[in-house]
Amino acid sequence: MEVVVLGSGSPLPDPHRAGPATLVRTKAGDLLFDCGRGVLMRAAAAGTSAGALVGLFVTHLHSDHVTDLNDVVTMRWATSFEPAPLPVFGPAGTAGLVAATEACLEWDIRYRLAHHADLTWRPTAEVTEIEAGVVFERGEVRVTAAPTDHSPVRPTVGFRVDEGSRSVVIAGDTVPCAGLDDLCAGADVLVHTAVRRDLIEQIGLPRLLDVLDYHSSVPDVAQTAARNGVATVVLTHLVPAPGPGSEGEWREQARARFGGDVVVAEDLTRIDVAPR
Ligand SMILES: [Zn+2]
Repeated sequence: MEVVVLGSGSPLPDPHRAGPATLVRTKAGDLLFDCGRGVLMRAAAAGTSAGALVGLFVTHLHSDHVTDLNDVVTMRWATSFEPAPLPVFGPAGTAGLVAATEACLEWDIRYRLAHHADLTWRPTAEVTEIEAGVVFERGEVRVTAAPTDHSPVRPTVGFRVDEGSRSVVIAGDTVPCAGLDDLCAGADVLVHTAVRRDLIEQIGLPRLLDVLDYHSSVPDVAQTAARNGVATVVLTHLVPAPGPGSEGEWREQARARFGGDVVVAEDLTRIDVAPR
């Protein structure tokens, strides 16, 4: 199993960081978690595509996590040689978002159907709205969801991918909570949104200060990992984006509370989760 951070950025456009998205490459195929800005450009760099996905898993419906859903839907369809419904798993509201996305693409769908004689089917998705429990199972690969706490944004979920004895957790945006602890128990890798409370308080802008009450700070993430026996933490969705050479500060803040490996993600950071 392999984790590739496709987008390590936040809602703010950044020349070097795409929006939130994480690829987990498994024996069952490529699983995509969230689909923020630029996801398919980074997927191409990682050697995959919308057509290769066996599942899209959405943590919540904040725009930065689903900005490029339209691109995933369109590219999966327009490059297909037979109908290939996109399997989508996400919290309540996901089906409506997918339907609305397809609706906003209606003119494009008409143009392409009229123009390409060999394209005779419309884009389709198989959406499963989920709350908790096993949501995907294929061979030895299993994806489990649990509710997280990104209040007042509700509902939100985190995911855990198990392949054999190895495991990866995708926390999404959340403060420390019981649902996330359940997912993290003994996990090999935890990919977690992280914000720098110290820097945000220094900057002091009200709209930026608002992010503090519904995201985990770096020490919060580290404590979640330590409490649950996680081996490696991957800090992503970094707010504010680290300035050149400042990644070490993020690592130190995490290491003060967590004895395992700490990775400060960049786009296309890869973590090998080899079989034991
Ligand atoms: Zn969010």
